[in-house]
Amino acid sequence: MDFRLTEEQEALRESVRDFAREVVAPVIAEHYEKHTFPYEVVRQMGKMGLFGLPFSEEYGGMGGNYFTLCLALEELARVDSSVAITLEAAISLGAMPIYRFGTEEQKAQWLPKLISGEALAGFGLTEPGVGSDAGGTQTRAVLDGDEWVINGSKAFITNSGTDITTLVTVTAVTGTRPDGSKELSTIIVPSGTPGFTVAPGYSKVGWNASDTHELTFDDCRVPAGNLLGERGRGFAQFLRILDEGRIAIAALAVGLAQGCVDESLKYARDRHAFGQPIGNYQAIQFKIADMEMRAHTARLAYYDAAARMLAGEPFKRQAAIAKLHASTIAVDNAREATQIHGGYGFMNEYPVARFWRDSKILEIGEGTSEVQRMVIARDLGL
Ligand SMILES: Cc1cc2nc3c(=O)[nH]c(=O)nc-3n(C[C@H](O)[C@H](O)[C@H](O)COP(=O)(O)OP(=O)(O)OC[C@H]3O[C@@H](n4cnc5c(N)ncnc54)[C@H](O)[C@@H]3O)c2cc1C
Repeated sequence: MDFRLTEEQEALRESVRDFAREVVAPVIAEHYEKHTFPYEVVRQMGKMGLFGLPFSEEYGGMGGNYFTLCLALEELARVDSSVAITLEAAISLGAMPIYRFGTEEQKAQWLPKLISGEALAGFGLTEPGVGSDAGGTQTRAVLDGDEWVINGSKAFITNSGTDITTLVTVTAVTGTRPDGSKELSTIIVPSGTPGFTVAPGYSKVGWNASDTHELTFDDCRVPAGNLLGERGRGFAQFLRILDEGRIAIAALAVGLAQGCVDESLKYARDRHAFGQPIGNYQAIQFKIADMEMRAHTARLAYYDAAARMLAGEPFKRQAAIAKLHASTIAVDNAREATQIHGGYGFMNEYPVARFWRDSKILEIGEGTSEVQRMVIARDLGL
């Protein structure tokens, strides 16, 4: 057993860390405040090859794997989560479904631009009335000649409305199985298709420099060939995508938790109270020690889940544990980092205020903490 990173992985981590500090940190607070999408940062991440990290070179990828993506996400989230979730969703929810389940033709058509970061894709599973219980999808797609006709709506879809969004994949009911249950399939809907409307961005508590929209499909017609993979495999497809995505969200949460340690260490050395730096007080030292412990153990949990996935072993339970634990400790660390910053922690100009606002969604997105517990319990045979 060896948890040390290879030289290549260390080099990637270093370069993303430098990028986050030198390119993301100086501009992100303004984007966050104005709720604008950081196109220039995304363009530069594309140039670095970050959108291609886990994909094969055949489609323009970097030939890495899901773990290298997680390392990059951790380093980005250590500075900012809006940028990290943009990359996470672009890969894990945007390009990955096409990479995993698409035909050769679909891959050739869509992947090169998604992998270069020139274009983004969204993954539309959640609906206004259906989230955790995704099997209850209401959106319908009916085959009419050689076209799918889609009707319904999707809620909270990341990367679905940027100027460079090229498509969303949507899950839809395409029929009824012999046992009466819904047949779910996944369909590619290119941006700009008539009948596909993107609502204005939400007003969110956090992730304010990321892109999230409600989508409506009103007799939206796409070619029959836009079906992703086999008809009726929609449920299995999104379960696989979510299992993987949970490892990536765990990495992102660990990054936020570690960013809280970074900022707290700096502040504890600089801020004086009662004649000395607050870092001299054991109460503050213990808070920071606990934050470091939490980030470290959550990191080991996602390393383990990623290692199992790459080895081709079952990893559902470990991915859920990693996501549940990392998101919980990210919220804990954000709360403690804010406390260490006192009144300044409540001021938006301090990164910890952003960490605090960005932490809560980690316990909700890509499966709530309750859903993770359901997954773990089910895997234990309950
Ligand atoms: C900023 C943001 C970005 C997002 N990006 C995307 C995206 O790109 N694509 C996408 O498809 N979705 C996306 N989502 C949606 C997200 O995945 C859902 O919000 C999440 O899965 C929860 O679904 P819900 O909001 O409908 O909550 P619900 O499912 O309605 O749950 C409400 C509460 O009930 C609890 N609950 C539900 N069922 C049970 C149960 N059986 N036992 C115990 N408790 C239960 C939940 O845990 C939760 O606490 C995004 C959400 C946000 C906020």
